[in-house]
Amino acid sequence: MHYDVIVIGAGSVGMAAGYYLAKSGKNVLLIDAFDPPHQSGSHHGETRIIRYAYGEGAEYVPLVLEAKQLWEDLAEASDKKIFMQTGVLNVGKPDSDFIRSTISSANDYALPLEVMEAEAIQQRWPGLTIPEYFTGCFEPTSGVLACEEAIKAYRELAERHGATLLPNSKVSDIEVKEHEVTVKTAEVTCQANALIVSAGAWSNEVLERLDLELPLTPVRKTFAWFDADEEQYNHQLFPAFSFDTDAGMYYGFPSINQAGLKLGRHDGGESIDPNQSIQPFGEKLEDQTDLTQFLHQYFPNVHELNYGKTCMYTQTPDEKFIIDLHPSYSHVAIAAGFSGHGFKFSSAVGKALSDLLISGKANVDLSPFAINRFN
Ligand SMILES: Cc1cc2nc3c(=O)[nH]c(=O)nc-3n(C[C@H](O)[C@H](O)[C@H](O)COP(=O)(O)OP(=O)(O)OC[C@H]3O[C@@H](n4cnc5c(N)ncnc54)[C@H](O)[C@@H]3O)c2cc1C
Repeated sequence: MHYDVIVIGAGSVGMAAGYYLAKSGKNVLLIDAFDPPHQSGSHHGETRIIRYAYGEGAEYVPLVLEAKQLWEDLAEASDKKIFMQTGVLNVGKPDSDFIRSTISSANDYALPLEVMEAEAIQQRWPGLTIPEYFTGCFEPTSGVLACEEAIKAYRELAERHGATLLPNSKVSDIEVKEHEVTVKTAEVTCQANALIVSAGAWSNEVLERLDLELPLTPVRKTFAWFDADEEQYNHQLFPAFSFDTDAGMYYGFPSINQAGLKLGRHDGGESIDPNQSIQPFGEKLEDQTDLTQFLHQYFPNVHELNYGKTCMYTQTPDEKFIIDLHPSYSHVAIAAGFSGHGFKFSSAVGKALSDLLISGKANVDLSPFAINRFN
Protein backbone atom coordinates (compact mmCIF):
# COMPACT_ATOMS: atom_id res chain seq x y z
CA MET A 1 0.00 0.00 0.00
CA HIS A 2 1.09 3.58 -0.64
CA TYR A 3 0.35 6.40 1.82
CA ASP A 4 1.01 10.13 2.03
CA VAL A 5 2.64 9.74 5.45
CA ILE A 6 3.67 6.81 7.66
CA VAL A 7 4.04 7.46 11.41
CA ILE A 8 6.32 5.06 13.28
CA GLY A 9 5.23 5.08 16.92
CA ALA A 10 1.58 6.02 17.58
CA GLY A 11 2.03 7.03 21.22
CA SER A 12 1.67 10.48 22.77
CA VAL A 13 3.17 12.46 19.89
CA GLY A 14 2.64 10.07 16.98
CA MET A 15 -1.09 9.58 17.54
CA ALA A 16 -1.60 13.35 17.69
CA ALA A 17 0.43 13.81 14.48
CA GLY A 18 -1.65 11.11 12.78
CA TYR A 19 -4.84 12.92 13.72
CA TYR A 20 -3.72 16.32 12.41
CA LEU A 21 -2.45 14.79 9.17
CA ALA A 22 -5.66 12.81 8.62
CA LYS A 23 -7.76 15.87 9.44
CA SER A 24 -5.83 17.77 6.74
CA GLY A 25 -6.87 15.12 4.23
CA LYS A 26 -3.64 13.11 4.19
CA ASN A 27 -3.74 9.37 3.77
CA VAL A 28 -1.92 8.25 6.92
CA LEU A 29 -0.65 4.93 8.25
CA LEU A 30 0.13 4.79 11.97
CA ILE A 31 2.27 1.82 13.03
CA ASP A 32 2.82 0.88 16.67
CA ALA A 33 4.64 -2.00 18.32
CA PHE A 34 1.81 -2.19 20.91
CA ASP A 35 -1.89 -1.23 20.98
CA PRO A 36 -1.95 2.42 22.13
CA PRO A 37 -2.61 3.65 24.71
CA HIS A 38 -0.60 0.90 26.39
CA GLN A 39 1.54 0.27 29.47
CA SER A 40 4.89 -0.40 27.81
CA GLY A 41 6.18 3.06 26.79
CA SER A 42 6.11 6.53 28.33
CA HIS A 43 2.42 7.46 28.37
CA HIS A 44 0.66 5.28 30.99
CA GLY A 45 -0.28 6.04 34.59
CA GLU A 46 -3.53 7.92 33.85
CA THR A 47 -2.38 11.50 34.50
CA ARG A 48 0.19 14.09 33.43
CA ILE A 49 0.76 17.63 34.73
CA ILE A 50 0.33 20.57 32.39
CA ARG A 51 1.72 23.94 33.50
CA TYR A 52 2.26 27.04 31.38
CA ALA A 53 4.62 29.26 33.43
CA TYR A 54 7.45 26.92 32.60
CA GLY A 55 10.19 26.14 35.10
CA GLU A 56 12.34 24.49 32.41
CA GLY A 57 12.57 27.73 30.38
CA ALA A 58 10.44 30.46 28.82
CA GLU A 59 11.24 29.10 25.33
CA TYR A 60 8.65 26.37 25.96
CA VAL A 61 5.78 28.77 26.66
CA PRO A 62 4.55 29.39 23.08
CA LEU A 63 4.53 25.63 22.45
CA VAL A 64 2.62 24.84 25.66
CA LEU A 65 0.07 27.59 25.02
CA GLU A 66 -0.52 26.13 21.57
CA ALA A 67 -0.84 22.70 23.23
CA LYS A 68 -3.38 24.07 25.73
CA GLN A 69 -5.60 25.28 22.89
CA LEU A 70 -5.29 21.95 21.08
CA TRP A 71 -6.19 19.97 24.25
CA GLU A 72 -9.34 22.09 24.54
CA ASP A 73 -10.15 21.43 20.88
CA LEU A 74 -9.54 17.70 21.39
CA ALA A 75 -11.91 17.58 24.38
CA GLU A 76 -14.58 19.28 22.31
CA ALA A 77 -14.11 17.15 19.19
CA SER A 78 -14.01 13.87 21.12
CA ASP A 79 -16.50 14.73 23.87
CA LYS A 80 -14.01 13.32 26.41
CA LYS A 81 -12.72 14.91 29.60
CA ILE A 82 -9.05 15.51 28.80
CA PHE A 83 -8.12 18.34 31.21
CA MET A 84 -8.91 18.96 34.88
CA GLN A 85 -8.13 22.44 36.20
CA THR A 86 -6.64 21.65 39.62
CA GLY A 87 -3.99 24.37 39.46
CA VAL A 88 -0.30 23.50 39.95
CA LEU A 89 1.78 24.48 42.99
CA ASN A 90 5.54 24.79 42.40
CA VAL A 91 7.66 24.82 45.54
CA GLY A 92 11.40 25.34 46.11
CA LYS A 93 14.03 27.70 47.44
CA PRO A 94 13.72 31.25 46.06
CA ASP A 95 17.05 30.79 44.21
CA SER A 96 15.98 27.51 42.54
CA ASP A 97 16.39 27.75 38.75
CA PHE A 98 13.03 26.02 38.37
CA ILE A 99 11.20 28.53 40.59
CA ARG A 100 12.97 31.51 39.05
CA SER A 101 12.18 30.36 35.54
CA THR A 102 8.54 29.68 36.48
CA ILE A 103 8.21 33.26 37.70
CA SER A 104 10.06 34.82 34.76
CA SER A 105 8.02 32.77 32.23
CA ALA A 106 4.83 34.04 33.88
CA ASN A 107 6.13 37.63 33.72
CA ASP A 108 7.29 37.34 30.09
CA TYR A 109 3.94 35.96 28.91
CA ALA A 110 1.59 37.69 31.40
CA LEU A 111 0.43 34.35 32.83
CA PRO A 112 -1.47 34.31 36.13
CA LEU A 113 0.84 33.11 38.95
CA GLU A 114 0.54 33.65 42.71
CA VAL A 115 3.92 33.80 44.43
CA MET A 116 3.43 32.65 48.03
CA GLU A 117 5.44 32.44 51.26
CA ALA A 118 5.67 29.09 53.07
CA GLU A 119 3.21 30.12 55.77
CA ALA A 120 0.56 31.17 53.25
CA ILE A 121 0.97 27.84 51.41
CA GLN A 122 0.41 25.86 54.61
CA GLN A 123 -2.61 27.91 55.54
CA ARG A 124 -4.19 27.35 52.17
CA TRP A 125 -3.36 23.62 51.97
CA PRO A 126 -3.12 22.30 55.55
CA GLY A 127 -2.01 18.88 54.25
CA LEU A 128 1.45 20.34 53.56
CA THR A 129 4.44 21.10 55.77
CA ILE A 130 6.70 23.63 54.04
CA PRO A 131 10.02 24.86 55.52
CA GLU A 132 9.96 28.62 56.03
CA TYR A 133 12.92 29.14 53.66
CA PHE A 134 10.85 27.74 50.75
CA THR A 135 8.71 29.76 48.44
CA GLY A 136 5.88 28.68 46.18
CA CYS A 137 4.14 29.77 43.04
CA PHE A 138 0.63 28.64 42.33
CA GLU A 139 -0.66 28.69 38.77
CA PRO A 140 -4.44 28.47 39.04
CA THR A 141 -5.17 27.90 35.34
CA SER A 142 -2.99 24.80 34.96
CA GLY A 143 -3.76 21.23 36.01
CA VAL A 144 -3.91 17.62 34.95
CA LEU A 145 -4.27 15.88 31.59
CA ALA A 146 -5.87 12.44 31.30
CA CYS A 147 -3.01 11.06 29.18
CA GLU A 148 -4.42 7.69 28.17
CA GLU A 149 -7.88 9.19 27.47
CA ALA A 150 -6.17 11.79 25.26
CA ILE A 151 -4.41 9.14 23.18
CA LYS A 152 -7.67 7.19 22.89
CA ALA A 153 -9.41 10.38 21.72
CA TYR A 154 -6.74 11.10 19.08
CA ARG A 155 -6.91 7.48 17.94
CA GLU A 156 -10.68 7.50 17.51
CA LEU A 157 -10.68 10.85 15.71
CA ALA A 158 -7.72 9.95 13.48
CA GLU A 159 -9.49 6.77 12.40
CA ARG A 160 -12.71 8.70 11.86
CA HIS A 161 -10.76 10.99 9.50
CA GLY A 162 -9.55 7.95 7.56
CA ALA A 163 -6.18 7.16 9.18
CA THR A 164 -5.17 3.48 9.28
CA LEU A 165 -3.67 2.13 12.52
CA LEU A 166 -1.52 -0.97 12.54
CA PRO A 167 -1.22 -1.96 16.22
CA ASN A 168 1.06 -4.71 17.64
CA SER A 169 3.36 -4.28 14.64
CA LYS A 170 6.98 -3.42 15.21
CA VAL A 171 8.79 -1.66 12.37
CA SER A 172 11.83 -3.73 11.55
CA ASP A 173 13.27 -1.97 8.52
CA ILE A 174 13.14 1.32 6.61
CA GLU A 175 14.49 2.26 3.20
CA VAL A 176 14.58 5.90 2.25
CA LYS A 177 14.83 7.39 -1.24
CA GLU A 178 14.67 11.00 -2.39
CA HIS A 179 10.87 11.28 -2.46
CA GLU A 180 9.75 8.01 -0.90
CA VAL A 181 10.13 5.78 2.13
CA THR A 182 9.53 2.04 2.43
CA VAL A 183 8.66 0.73 5.89
CA LYS A 184 8.62 -2.95 6.83
CA THR A 185 7.12 -4.90 9.71
CA ALA A 186 7.12 -8.69 10.03
CA GLU A 187 3.80 -8.80 8.12
CA VAL A 188 3.67 -5.84 5.74
CA THR A 189 5.74 -3.58 3.52
CA CYS A 190 4.33 -0.09 2.85
CA GLN A 191 5.44 3.00 0.98
CA ALA A 192 4.81 6.69 1.66
CA ASN A 193 5.89 10.11 0.46
CA ALA A 194 6.92 11.14 3.97
CA LEU A 195 7.73 9.66 7.37
CA ILE A 196 7.42 10.65 11.03
CA VAL A 197 9.56 8.88 13.62
CA SER A 198 8.02 9.30 17.10
CA ALA A 199 9.14 6.05 18.70
CA GLY A 200 9.73 7.27 22.27
CA ALA A 201 12.32 5.19 24.15
CA TRP A 202 12.99 3.14 20.99
CA SER A 203 13.77 6.15 18.79
CA ASN A 204 17.44 5.36 18.23
CA GLU A 205 16.62 1.77 17.28
CA VAL A 206 14.36 3.15 14.52
CA LEU A 207 16.66 6.03 13.53
CA GLU A 208 19.57 3.62 13.11
CA ARG A 209 17.72 2.46 9.96
CA LEU A 210 17.98 6.06 8.74
CA ASP A 211 21.71 6.35 9.55
CA LEU A 212 21.10 8.69 12.46
CA GLU A 213 22.02 8.35 16.11
CA LEU A 214 20.77 10.95 18.60
CA PRO A 215 22.03 11.43 22.19
CA LEU A 216 19.06 9.66 23.79
CA THR A 217 19.06 7.61 27.01
CA PRO A 218 16.01 5.54 28.02
CA VAL A 219 15.61 5.63 31.81
CA ARG A 220 13.53 3.52 34.22
CA LYS A 221 11.16 5.69 36.28
CA THR A 222 8.76 4.86 39.09
CA PHE A 223 5.62 6.44 40.51
CA ALA A 224 3.04 5.37 43.08
CA TRP A 225 -0.34 6.06 44.60
CA PHE A 226 -0.70 6.56 48.37
CA ASP A 227 -3.86 6.40 50.47
CA ALA A 228 -4.68 9.97 51.41
CA ASP A 229 -7.24 11.81 53.50
CA GLU A 230 -9.82 12.82 50.90
CA GLU A 231 -10.86 15.87 52.90
CA GLN A 232 -7.39 17.36 52.49
CA TYR A 233 -6.11 15.96 49.22
CA ASN A 234 -9.08 15.58 46.87
CA HIS A 235 -8.73 17.21 43.46
CA GLN A 236 -11.34 19.85 44.18
CA LEU A 237 -9.21 21.29 46.99
CA PHE A 238 -5.66 20.18 46.39
CA PRO A 239 -3.49 21.07 43.37
CA ALA A 240 -1.00 19.08 41.33
CA PHE A 241 2.53 19.97 42.44
CA SER A 242 6.28 20.09 41.70
CA PHE A 243 8.86 20.37 44.49
CA ASP A 244 12.47 21.31 43.78
CA THR A 245 14.20 20.08 46.97
CA ASP A 246 17.82 19.42 47.94
CA ALA A 247 16.98 15.70 47.89
CA GLY A 248 15.56 15.78 44.34
CA MET A 249 12.81 17.01 42.09
CA TYR A 250 9.38 15.53 42.93
CA TYR A 251 5.97 15.94 41.32
CA GLY A 252 2.51 14.68 42.11
CA PHE A 253 -1.23 14.79 41.78
CA PRO A 254 -4.16 15.27 44.15
CA SER A 255 -6.43 12.31 44.78
CA ILE A 256 -8.56 12.20 41.63
CA ASN A 257 -11.81 10.26 41.97
CA GLN A 258 -10.49 8.84 45.25
CA ALA A 259 -7.53 7.13 43.58
CA GLY A 260 -5.13 8.43 46.26
CA LEU A 261 -2.26 10.89 46.06
CA LYS A 262 0.08 10.06 43.16
CA LEU A 263 3.78 10.83 43.54
CA GLY A 264 6.90 10.46 41.40
CA ARG A 265 10.51 11.59 41.42
CA HIS A 266 11.60 13.44 38.31
CA ASP A 267 15.41 13.37 38.57
CA GLY A 268 17.55 10.23 38.64
CA GLY A 269 16.70 6.73 37.47
CA GLU A 270 18.66 3.91 35.91
CA SER A 271 19.41 3.85 32.18
CA ILE A 272 17.90 0.81 30.52
CA ASP A 273 17.43 -1.09 27.28
CA PRO A 274 13.73 -0.64 26.41
CA ASN A 275 13.69 -4.12 24.85
CA GLN A 276 14.60 -5.82 28.14
CA SER A 277 11.90 -6.35 30.75
CA ILE A 278 11.96 -3.55 33.32
CA GLN A 279 12.21 -4.42 37.02
CA PRO A 280 8.71 -3.87 38.47
CA PHE A 281 8.04 -1.19 41.08
CA GLY A 282 9.34 -2.20 44.50
CA GLU A 283 12.13 -4.49 43.30
CA LYS A 284 14.64 -1.77 44.07
CA LEU A 285 14.73 -0.56 47.65
CA GLU A 286 14.83 3.09 46.61
CA ASP A 287 11.58 2.80 44.60
CA GLN A 288 9.61 3.18 47.79
CA THR A 289 12.06 4.96 50.10
CA ASP A 290 12.61 7.82 47.62
CA LEU A 291 8.91 8.59 47.74
CA THR A 292 8.18 7.93 51.41
CA GLN A 293 11.09 10.12 52.57
CA PHE A 294 9.64 12.99 50.55
CA LEU A 295 6.14 12.40 51.92
CA HIS A 296 7.43 12.18 55.47
CA GLN A 297 8.94 15.65 55.15
CA TYR A 298 6.30 17.55 53.17
CA PHE A 299 3.07 15.51 53.37
CA PRO A 300 3.17 14.19 56.96
CA ASN A 301 -0.42 12.88 56.83
CA VAL A 302 0.12 10.64 53.79
CA HIS A 303 1.61 7.24 54.65
CA GLU A 304 0.23 4.05 53.16
CA LEU A 305 1.52 2.97 49.76
CA ASN A 306 -1.33 1.69 47.64
CA TYR A 307 0.57 0.54 44.56
CA GLY A 308 3.32 1.68 42.21
CA LYS A 309 4.32 1.31 38.55
CA THR A 310 7.31 1.82 36.29
CA CYS A 311 7.50 3.88 33.09
CA MET A 312 10.28 5.21 30.82
CA TYR A 313 11.77 8.63 30.22
CA THR A 314 13.94 9.27 27.15
CA GLN A 315 16.59 11.75 28.23
CA THR A 316 18.62 14.15 26.10
CA PRO A 317 21.81 15.68 27.57
CA ASP A 318 20.14 19.09 28.05
CA GLU A 319 16.68 17.60 28.82
CA LYS A 320 15.26 19.59 25.92
CA PHE A 321 13.21 17.91 23.23
CA ILE A 322 14.27 17.00 19.71
CA ILE A 323 11.70 18.13 17.12
CA ASP A 324 13.20 18.52 13.69
CA LEU A 325 13.54 17.20 10.16
CA HIS A 326 16.13 14.50 9.52
CA PRO A 327 19.42 16.26 8.64
CA SER A 328 19.63 14.38 5.31
CA TYR A 329 15.95 13.90 4.39
CA SER A 330 13.43 16.76 4.36
CA HIS A 331 10.55 14.27 4.06
CA VAL A 332 11.42 12.61 7.41
CA ALA A 333 10.36 14.39 10.63
CA ILE A 334 11.56 13.33 14.07
CA ALA A 335 10.22 13.93 17.59
CA ALA A 336 12.14 12.35 20.45
CA GLY A 337 13.93 12.87 23.75
CA PHE A 338 11.01 14.30 25.72
CA SER A 339 13.04 13.88 28.93
CA GLY A 340 10.09 13.23 31.23
CA HIS A 341 8.18 16.45 30.56
CA GLY A 342 6.81 16.02 27.05
CA PHE A 343 3.24 14.83 27.40
CA LYS A 344 1.71 18.26 27.97
CA PHE A 345 3.21 19.36 24.63
CA SER A 346 2.30 16.30 22.60
CA SER A 347 -0.82 17.82 21.02
CA ALA A 348 1.23 20.78 19.75
CA VAL A 349 4.22 18.64 18.76
CA GLY A 350 1.94 16.32 16.76
CA LYS A 351 0.43 19.34 15.02
CA ALA A 352 3.90 20.83 14.39
CA LEU A 353 5.12 17.59 12.76
CA SER A 354 2.04 17.52 10.58
CA ASP A 355 2.58 21.18 9.56
CA LEU A 356 6.30 20.57 8.90
CA LEU A 357 5.51 17.80 6.44
CA ILE A 358 2.53 19.52 4.81
CA SER A 359 3.82 23.09 4.47
CA GLY A 360 7.49 22.89 5.50
CA LYS A 361 6.82 25.24 8.41
CA ALA A 362 5.39 24.85 11.92
CA ASN A 363 3.14 27.32 13.71
CA VAL A 364 5.58 27.73 16.62
CA ASP A 365 9.34 28.27 16.78
CA LEU A 366 11.01 24.86 16.90
CA SER A 367 14.61 26.18 16.80
CA PRO A 368 15.25 25.41 20.53
CA PHE A 369 14.62 21.75 19.68
CA ALA A 370 16.85 21.44 16.61
CA ILE A 371 19.12 18.42 16.13
CA ASN A 372 22.13 20.55 15.18
CA ARG A 373 22.51 21.86 18.75
CA PHE A 374 24.36 18.61 19.50
CA ASN A 375 26.95 19.11 16.74
C1 LIG B 1 6.27 8.36 35.15
C2 LIG B 1 6.18 9.46 34.15
C3 LIG B 1 5.60 10.68 34.50
C4 LIG B 1 5.53 11.72 33.59
N1 LIG B 1 4.93 12.89 33.95
C5 LIG B 1 4.76 13.88 33.04
C6 LIG B 1 4.01 15.04 33.37
O1 LIG B 1 3.48 15.16 34.48
N2 LIG B 1 3.85 15.97 32.41
C7 LIG B 1 4.39 15.84 31.16
O2 LIG B 1 4.21 16.75 30.35
N3 LIG B 1 5.09 14.74 30.81
C8 LIG B 1 5.28 13.76 31.73
N4 LIG B 1 5.95 12.62 31.39
C9 LIG B 1 6.61 12.52 30.07
C10 LIG B 1 5.69 12.13 28.96
O3 LIG B 1 4.77 11.15 29.34
C11 LIG B 1 6.55 11.67 27.77
O4 LIG B 1 7.47 12.72 27.48
C12 LIG B 1 5.72 11.38 26.54
O5 LIG B 1 4.73 10.42 26.83
C13 LIG B 1 6.65 10.85 25.44
O6 LIG B 1 5.87 10.64 24.27
P1 LIG B 1 6.43 9.79 23.03
O7 LIG B 1 5.41 9.90 21.97
O8 LIG B 1 7.83 10.23 22.76
O9 LIG B 1 6.54 8.29 23.58
P2 LIG B 1 5.39 7.17 23.72
O10 LIG B 1 4.11 7.77 24.15
O11 LIG B 1 5.98 6.08 24.55
O12 LIG B 1 5.20 6.66 22.22
C14 LIG B 1 6.20 5.99 21.50
C15 LIG B 1 5.52 4.87 20.74
O13 LIG B 1 6.42 4.34 19.78
C16 LIG B 1 6.12 2.96 19.63
N5 LIG B 1 7.26 2.30 18.99
C17 LIG B 1 8.55 2.28 19.41
N6 LIG B 1 9.33 1.59 18.54
C18 LIG B 1 8.52 1.18 17.53
C19 LIG B 1 8.74 0.42 16.34
N7 LIG B 1 9.95 -0.05 16.00
N8 LIG B 1 7.68 0.15 15.55
C20 LIG B 1 6.44 0.62 15.87
N9 LIG B 1 6.19 1.34 17.00
C21 LIG B 1 7.21 1.63 17.82
C22 LIG B 1 5.86 2.52 21.07
O14 LIG B 1 5.12 1.32 21.14
C23 LIG B 1 5.09 3.72 21.62
O15 LIG B 1 3.69 3.54 21.55
C24 LIG B 1 6.05 11.54 32.28
C25 LIG B 1 6.61 10.31 31.92
C26 LIG B 1 6.66 9.27 32.82
C27 LIG B 1 7.27 7.96 32.41
